[in-house]
Amino acid sequence: MTECLFCKMAAGDIKPDVVYEDDTVLAFRDISPQAPVHVLVIPKRHIANLNDLDDTELAGQLLRTAAIIAKQEGISEQGYRTVFNCNQHGGQTVHHLHLHVLGGRQLAWPPG
Ligand code: 5GP
Ligand code: ZN
Repeated sequence: MTECLFCKMAAGDIKPDVVYEDDTVLAFRDISPQAPVHVLVIPKRHIANLNDLDDTELAGQLLRTAAIIAKQEGISEQGYRTVFNCNQHGGQTVHHLHLHVLGGRQLAWPPG
Protein backbone atom coordinates (compact mmCIF):
# COMPACT_ATOMS: atom_id res chain seq x y z
CA MET A 1 0.00 0.00 0.00
CA THR A 2 1.26 3.46 -0.92
CA GLU A 3 2.60 5.80 1.73
CA CYS A 4 1.87 8.81 -0.43
CA LEU A 5 -0.83 11.04 1.08
CA PHE A 6 -2.12 12.33 -2.25
CA CYS A 7 -2.14 8.83 -3.78
CA LYS A 8 -4.35 7.79 -0.87
CA MET A 9 -6.69 10.67 -1.72
CA ALA A 10 -6.68 9.72 -5.40
CA ALA A 11 -7.53 6.13 -4.44
CA GLY A 12 -10.37 7.30 -2.17
CA ASP A 13 -8.74 5.92 0.99
CA ILE A 14 -8.57 9.44 2.46
CA LYS A 15 -11.39 11.81 1.58
CA PRO A 16 -10.46 15.47 1.17
CA ASP A 17 -12.95 18.25 0.41
CA VAL A 18 -13.18 17.58 -3.33
CA VAL A 19 -14.17 20.41 -5.68
CA TYR A 20 -13.51 18.67 -9.02
CA GLU A 21 -12.77 15.14 -10.20
CA ASP A 22 -12.49 13.28 -13.48
CA ASP A 23 -10.69 10.12 -14.60
CA THR A 24 -7.28 11.79 -14.60
CA VAL A 25 -7.21 14.56 -12.01
CA LEU A 26 -8.56 15.35 -8.55
CA ALA A 27 -8.92 18.81 -6.99
CA PHE A 28 -9.57 19.47 -3.32
CA ARG A 29 -9.34 22.26 -0.75
CA ASP A 30 -6.00 22.72 0.97
CA ILE A 31 -6.16 21.76 4.66
CA SER A 32 -4.24 24.93 5.59
CA PRO A 33 -5.59 27.56 3.19
CA GLN A 34 -3.33 30.53 2.47
CA ALA A 35 -6.12 32.49 0.78
CA PRO A 36 -9.95 32.43 0.79
CA VAL A 37 -9.73 30.03 -2.16
CA HIS A 38 -6.88 27.52 -1.95
CA VAL A 39 -7.33 24.37 -3.99
CA LEU A 40 -4.80 21.70 -4.96
CA VAL A 41 -5.07 19.98 -8.35
CA ILE A 42 -3.30 16.62 -8.55
CA PRO A 43 -2.86 13.93 -11.17
CA LYS A 44 -4.42 10.68 -9.93
CA ARG A 45 -1.29 8.74 -10.82
CA HIS A 46 1.83 9.34 -8.77
CA ILE A 47 4.28 11.87 -10.20
CA ALA A 48 6.72 13.29 -7.63
CA ASN A 49 7.08 16.81 -8.98
CA LEU A 50 7.31 18.97 -12.09
CA ASN A 51 10.70 17.48 -13.00
CA ASP A 52 8.93 14.17 -13.64
CA LEU A 53 5.96 15.56 -15.58
CA ASP A 54 6.72 14.49 -19.15
CA ASP A 55 3.10 13.98 -20.20
CA THR A 56 2.13 17.21 -21.97
CA GLU A 57 -1.52 16.22 -22.23
CA LEU A 58 -1.67 15.74 -18.46
CA ALA A 59 0.13 19.07 -17.94
CA GLY A 60 -2.59 20.72 -20.00
CA GLN A 61 -5.31 18.95 -18.06
CA LEU A 62 -3.90 20.19 -14.74
CA LEU A 63 -3.76 23.77 -16.00
CA ARG A 64 -7.18 23.61 -17.62
CA THR A 65 -8.62 22.21 -14.39
CA ALA A 66 -7.15 25.14 -12.47
CA ALA A 67 -9.01 27.56 -14.75
CA ILE A 68 -12.26 25.57 -14.41
CA ILE A 69 -11.93 25.67 -10.62
CA ALA A 70 -11.24 29.40 -10.65
CA LYS A 71 -14.46 29.92 -12.59
CA GLN A 72 -16.36 27.54 -10.31
CA GLU A 73 -15.06 29.42 -7.25
CA GLY A 74 -15.95 32.81 -8.75
CA ILE A 75 -12.39 34.19 -8.82
CA SER A 76 -11.69 34.12 -12.57
CA GLU A 77 -12.25 37.79 -13.24
CA GLN A 78 -10.62 39.31 -10.16
CA GLY A 79 -7.72 36.93 -10.62
CA TYR A 80 -5.80 34.18 -8.97
CA ARG A 81 -2.43 32.44 -8.90
CA THR A 82 -1.32 28.93 -9.89
CA VAL A 83 1.87 27.48 -8.40
CA PHE A 84 3.85 24.26 -8.68
CA ASN A 85 6.34 24.12 -5.80
CA CYS A 86 9.27 21.87 -6.73
CA ASN A 87 11.69 20.29 -4.25
CA GLN A 88 13.40 22.02 -1.36
CA HIS A 89 14.00 25.54 -2.66
CA GLY A 90 10.52 25.59 -4.14
CA GLY A 91 9.05 24.75 -0.73
CA GLN A 92 7.55 21.42 -1.77
CA THR A 93 6.42 19.44 1.28
CA VAL A 94 4.19 16.79 -0.31
CA HIS A 95 6.07 14.86 -2.97
CA HIS A 96 3.15 14.12 -5.26
CA LEU A 97 2.74 16.74 -7.97
CA HIS A 98 0.11 19.35 -7.16
CA LEU A 99 -0.92 22.65 -8.64
CA HIS A 100 -1.95 25.27 -6.09
CA VAL A 101 -4.86 27.54 -7.10
CA LEU A 102 -4.96 30.59 -4.83
CA GLY A 103 -7.32 33.53 -4.90
CA GLY A 104 -10.07 35.50 -3.25
CA ARG A 105 -7.73 38.24 -2.00
CA GLN A 106 -4.89 40.41 -3.33
CA LEU A 107 -1.78 38.23 -3.44
CA ALA A 108 1.70 39.67 -2.89
CA TRP A 109 4.46 39.38 -5.49
CA PRO A 110 7.27 38.41 -5.46
CA PRO A 111 6.87 35.52 -3.00
CA GLY A 112 9.29 35.30 -0.08
P1 5GP B 1 3.58 22.10 -1.01
O1 5GP B 1 4.17 22.83 0.17
O2 5GP B 1 4.14 20.69 -1.12
O3 5GP B 1 3.63 22.85 -2.28
O4 5GP B 1 2.03 21.99 -0.69
C1 5GP B 1 1.47 20.94 0.01
C2 5GP B 1 0.12 21.42 0.44
O5 5GP B 1 -0.63 20.31 0.90
C3 5GP B 1 0.18 22.42 1.61
O6 5GP B 1 -0.43 23.64 1.21
C4 5GP B 1 -0.59 21.72 2.72
O7 5GP B 1 -1.37 22.58 3.50
C5 5GP B 1 -1.43 20.71 1.96
N1 5GP B 1 -1.75 19.52 2.72
C6 5GP B 1 -0.89 18.79 3.49
N2 5GP B 1 -1.55 17.76 4.06
C7 5GP B 1 -2.84 17.85 3.64
C8 5GP B 1 -4.00 17.06 3.90
O8 5GP B 1 -3.98 16.07 4.64
N3 5GP B 1 -5.16 17.46 3.30
C9 5GP B 1 -5.22 18.57 2.48
N4 5GP B 1 -6.40 18.85 1.96
N5 5GP B 1 -4.14 19.31 2.22
C10 5GP B 1 -2.97 18.97 2.79
ZN1 ZN C 1 1.44 9.91 -4.81
